Parts: sequence; C-alpha cells; structure tokens
Amino acid sequence: MCGIVGYVGKKGDCVRVLSDGLKRLEYRGYDSAGIAYIDNDKLSVIKEKGKLENLLGKIDLNKKANLGIGHTRWATHGEANETNAHPHVVGKFAVVHNGIIENEKEIKKQLESKGYKFKSDTDTEVISALLDYYYSKNNDVLKSIDAIDKTLKGAYALGIICMDDKDTLYAVKKNSPLIIGAGDNENYIASDVPAILGRTNKYTVLEDGDYAKITNN
Ligand code: GLU
Repeated sequence: MCGIVGYVGKKGDCVRVLSDGLKRLEYRGYDSAGIAYIDNDKLSVIKEKGKLENLLGKIDLNKKANLGIGHTRWATHGEANETNAHPHVVGKFAVVHNGIIENEKEIKKQLESKGYKFKSDTDTEVISALLDYYYSKNNDVLKSIDAIDKTLKGAYALGIICMDDKDTLYAVKKNSPLIIGAGDNENYIASDVPAILGRTNKYTVLEDGDYAKITNN
C-alpha cells in the first residue's frame, strides 16, 4: 500500500497540504515519494527515493501554489528510484497512481508505435501517455479520463493535473481507495481520511468507476 494526496484551493496552501498529507499516510508503507504543483503557471515536480524526509528536504514549504498532487510509492513496476517515483508527466498530464495496471505492456506497445517514448519502467507513465494521447484527439479532459477508464485493466486510484486546466484537480478510482475532502474554498483528494484530518472532516468516498473534476469550490 501507499498514498495519494491532492489539493486545489485559493488559499495557496498546496505544498504544505501535500507534505502534511504524505506524512500522515506514511503508515501505509512506501519506498519513494514525490509531489507536483503549479508554480507561476509552470509545473514543478520534485521526487526522491527512500524516506519522506529525503523529499521534504528538497521542498520549500512556504511556496504558494493552488493546485498539486503528491504520492508515496510502493513499487510494482520498476525499482524504487527517483525516475520511477511519481508524479509521472507526459505531454500535458501529470499523474500519481496507487495500484497496478495489468494490460500496461500492450498499451505501451501501441503508444510507442504512435511515437511516445518512456523514461521510467512504471505502469503509471503509460497512464499519463494514454491520457495525453486521448486528449490530443478529443481536447476534453473528462472524455479522456472516461476513455482510459474503459481501456485500463487492474487497480488504480489516480490524481491528475492537466496543464490546460490549471485550476482543476481530476481523480479516478477503481479497485484502490480514494476520497474527496471538502474544505472552505479548497478541496482535497486522499487515499485515506487521516491525510486530510485537521483540514476538514467532510469527505466523500469514491466508488469503483467514479471519476471527479474538482475545483476550489
Ligand atoms: N504500479 C505503480 C508503480 O509501480 C504504482 C505503485 C503504487 O501503488 O504506489 O509505480
């Protein structure tokens, strides 16, 4: 097991919420960690293998950001190193993933034949590329999420950022846990309630097949 946390909100507390949330999910076990957030319209990605302190040592907790995703990884595809740590960015999409994709080999082959190149050994990077591929065809994030939901086999809780939509956090859940937390002008996703306790006690548990588009309000 491992963890996901995500933030969208006007208060700019993103980096602190992600860091605190990941600490509160440490009990689930992990071998590496990472975060991505939008900073001055650009995506910043910070990853590190091993203990969360290694990652936190690289993060400026006072940095203001309104949208971000964080992850602790328990490797299933590829060793525990910085390259394989999440988030995985392909084209316009950054993705954190808990779970295992069973048909990643065949999808990867198809995407490679369309020109996609992969940097990591993970099944998760295949999800980012598949989203980017569908989005390049339909220019609609929710439709692209629906399309990957119909294509992927296995287990996945996903936190997703699309660089064309910098005020919105997207999430999907199948066979891995994910909740949405509702705050005041800021909202969250997380693998489990402790990650967001102290921020809000209002939350919705996603069901298999659910996906969500979450803004600050
Ligand atoms: N299967 C993914 C990987 O190996 C995600 C593992 C996880 O749940 O953290 O990177």
